[in-house]
Order: sequence, then structure tokens, then C-alpha cells
Amino acid sequence: MSTEDGPGIRTSIFMKGCGLGCTWCHNPESISFKSELQWLKASCISCNICIDTCSQNALLSSAKGIEINRDNCTACGECVEECPSAALEMLGQDTGVDELVKEVLKDRIYFEKSNGGVTVSGGEPALQADFTAEFLEKLKQEGIHTAFDTCGFSSKESYEKILPYVDLILFDIKEIDAEKHEEFTGKSNEKIFENLLYISGYIKNHKTELWIRTPIIPETTATNENIIGIGKFIAENDIQTTRWELCAFNNLCNDKYERLGKKWDFEQYGLFKSETLEHFTKLAKKSGVNPEIVISSGSVKNGAQLIKEINNEPKPVDYCKITGLLD
Ligand code: SF4
Ligand code: SF4
Repeated sequence: MSTEDGPGIRTSIFMKGCGLGCTWCHNPESISFKSELQWLKASCISCNICIDTCSQNALLSSAKGIEINRDNCTACGECVEECPSAALEMLGQDTGVDELVKEVLKDRIYFEKSNGGVTVSGGEPALQADFTAEFLEKLKQEGIHTAFDTCGFSSKESYEKILPYVDLILFDIKEIDAEKHEEFTGKSNEKIFENLLYISGYIKNHKTELWIRTPIIPETTATNENIIGIGKFIAENDIQTTRWELCAFNNLCNDKYERLGKKWDFEQYGLFKSETLEHFTKLAKKSGVNPEIVISSGSVKNGAQLIKEINNEPKPVDYCKITGLLD
């Protein structure tokens, strides 16, 4: 269930595998093409049944709980089956197109009542272009609105296959400077801009809509030069977008990194203050694009966070002040 990835209430399919490796990635479980095991500390009852089950010696008990040796784990899923408290989960499963279509059509009533639909996201769904194209084609035959969320880093041929079955493209432009883009994501942005120009040309002759999204990330993409530079690129190249969304950083994915046993470089950053996001939104509106297409999204520091931050034991008068703010 998603309300952020296109209009209305949507079912989002997160496909595994991505060609970029953004340091801030909010879906770390979607970077690898392979299935990955995760351990949920809060559910574990320390019975160690999983350790006895694993024939690969991939699990061991430590002071922190169950540790997974990912070099040994073959993702066979036997420990998941045997765990009595659902504390182990396999991320990623193989499925067929018809099976997936059948699954998402269970939500048809939500799409119809909310003008929603289905979004394929990831990871990068264009890296599984044949599957994505066939899946979206079948949804179009069922009269379902389709959205395709892409980081832009795939071949032109993959987009040619998918676009005929897409109502809305969600295209990420993260960083205008090629060197910085490479530093932050592992790849230059050259191919991404080539694909954006191709897609913009395509939609001139089709009913497909294009939304551009820019993640606003502390110490990386959240700079004046970047926002102005992206705006200029959109304006100067007449990119046929109807929305440019600035997506505010959040740290909700911290738990995901922990469960996967990965370190996240952005652990220490909180939400932006509302004024910071407003600042970038104003800059974007002045960058040369039609100001009406610029919007911002995501959580920012507001009254709820301020309550926590005032002090450990706020006096009743502080509660009153802050409650007033929230109202
Ligand atoms: S089998 Fe499940 S509950 Fe038992 S130790 Fe392993 S993860 Fe924890
Ligand atoms: S998925 Fe299979 S190989 Fe991996 S830890 Fe569990 S039982 Fe062992």
C-alpha cells in the first residue's frame, strides 16, 4: 500500500536489483538481485532452533543476538520455515507475471475508489525489463493505472520495452554534477540524463505523464547549486514534466540497515527543519522551471519533534505552547 508513488491508493512492487548504490538508499534490501535473510530482534525468543536448522553454518548466536554469515547463507529459507516466532524473513521472492498480476488485482477496489493503481519500483525495474513490460501490459489490459519508478540508470532498449504500458513515469534526478553523482551513487549521471531526454521526447507523442523526483539528502544533494542546476536542466531542455518533487530526507530506513547487518552513513541525521525544505522549494521555483510544477514532500521537523527536543521533562506550560503549535 502506497500513497506516495503516484495518484490515489497504490500497490507498489519493489523489484530487487539496482545499478546504482546511493549512499543514502532508503531501500537497501532492493540493491542486490539476490534474496537476503533478515533477523528481527524484537521477535526473537532466543530458542536457537534456526542455528540447528542451518546446514551451511551461516547462523551463530552472539551477545547481540543471531548473526548471519552472508558468505555462507544460500538463502534456502529453511531457517525461516523453522523459526517459531517469525523472527527471520527472506527478502525477495521469485514470482511469475501471471501470479503477480493475480496478487495485485486483489486490491482493485482500492484503485477504483481512489483513482489509484499499481507502481513498479525498486531497485530498478528497468533492469528486469521483459518481466516489467509484460506485467504492466497485463495490468493495462485490466484497465489499471500504471506507474513506473526509475532511477534512470538502465539501457535505452529497456525503456523502449516498458514505456508503451506506462501511464506515469517517476524519474529520479539526484545530482546535477557528474563527479558528485559518481561519488554519491557509484555511477556518473551521463546515461541518466540521456535517458531523461529520450523519455521526454517519447512522451511528447504519447499520453504518458512524467514526474521528476529529487531526494534532498543532507551533506550531499541538499545544496543550492544542485537544486538550481537540476531546475536549469529541466527548463533548458524543455523536459516534458508536469511535476518536480523535492523529497525530504528521513531516517526511517535505519532499522532496515540494522536488520540486514549493514552500516548506514546517515544514521546521525534527523529530519530537516521545515524552513530548510521551504528554502530549497523556493530556489527550485526560481530556477527557470514553471514554478507551479514544484512541490515538496516528506516529513520535516515540526511540533511533534520539538516536543521531544525541548527537554526530558517538559513543564506543563511547554506542553501548552507546543500543543498550540500543533493545532
Ligand atoms: S529460530 Fe527464530 S526465535 Fe529462535 S533464535 Fe532463531 S530467529 Fe530467534
Ligand atoms: S537461509 Fe538457509 S543457508 Fe541461510 S541461514 Fe537460513 S538455513 Fe542457513
